[in-house]
Amino acid sequence: MTDPYDDETPREPLDLAGLQRRLAEFAAARDWQPYHTPKNLVAALSVEASELLEIFQWLTPEESTRVMDDPDTAHRVTDEVADVLAYLLQLCEVLGVDPLSALAAKIDRNEHRFPAGKPRPASP
Ligand SMILES: [Mg+2]
Repeated sequence: MTDPYDDETPREPLDLAGLQRRLAEFAAARDWQPYHTPKNLVAALSVEASELLEIFQWLTPEESTRVMDDPDTAHRVTDEVADVLAYLLQLCEVLGVDPLSALAAKIDRNEHRFPAGKPRPASP
């Protein structure tokens, strides 16, 4: 599989806000915004997460740790990761959620809830 980014084309540095803007422009250019309701975006996010899960579904735990060793499987995983992130970023956009701030706040809470050196809880 050929990597479309494996060339000499100069690109702007990647950042979440820029990628969200490109996703919004992509949807707007195709008049897809009416379909990008929070409900539809959450459903699409769930479908894409399931497509990612499908790749791992019948692998043993050991096989799952080597999933990126096969170039075709690695490409499928990377493609589904992109789909999941695309819908998550679009959902954040329509809901007005800053994904990086939300993640930072969650990590802060988890560091407080689960101090290092303590036994792992049954269900975090
Ligand atoms: Mg997909």
